[in-house]
Amino acid sequence: MSKEEKNSGIVTPDGPQKDEIFMRAAISEAVAALDEGEVPIGCVIVRDGKIIAAAHNKREKEKNALYHAEILAIDKACHALGGWRLPGCTLYVTLEPCPMCAGAIVSARIERVVYGAKDPKAGAFGSVLNLNSYPLNHKPEIISGVLKRDCADMLSQFFAKKRENYL
Ligand SMILES: [Zn+2]
Repeated sequence: MSKEEKNSGIVTPDGPQKDEIFMRAAISEAVAALDEGEVPIGCVIVRDGKIIAAAHNKREKEKNALYHAEILAIDKACHALGGWRLPGCTLYVTLEPCPMCAGAIVSARIERVVYGAKDPKAGAFGSVLNLNSYPLNHKPEIISGVLKRDCADMLSQFFAKKRENYL
């Protein structure tokens, strides 16, 4: 706990417990995507213990390949902080980032990435590739598997339902 947090009287748990709290916020965003008929992926960006940006996948609605949850959240966070660098920020996302989003995370100098489920088809922080294994000028710290069951179940239910509708 930082001094400021102690002084403000807000008690925020540290470590894994804190990560679960913010992952739940990312899951709420994923539920919002689900309600809109989108693949349920949600993301929040946290700085100094506060959510500064929250977004979910809007690819179908906006008919745009770029509208992944992480890209939209990074866009909002840049506006919130007034710059393209996002120092001291942790990005929470329900699914392992794809190559596009992993690239955006590195470009924005995000310090930590916490993701839920692994993505064996497009994951770029350990599954299909690991962007951190290349000599880029910035390497975010990666934590995976936080509330992975909740994150993955939502996705598999979504795709099972989709398949049902096609039968
Ligand atoms: Zn992506």
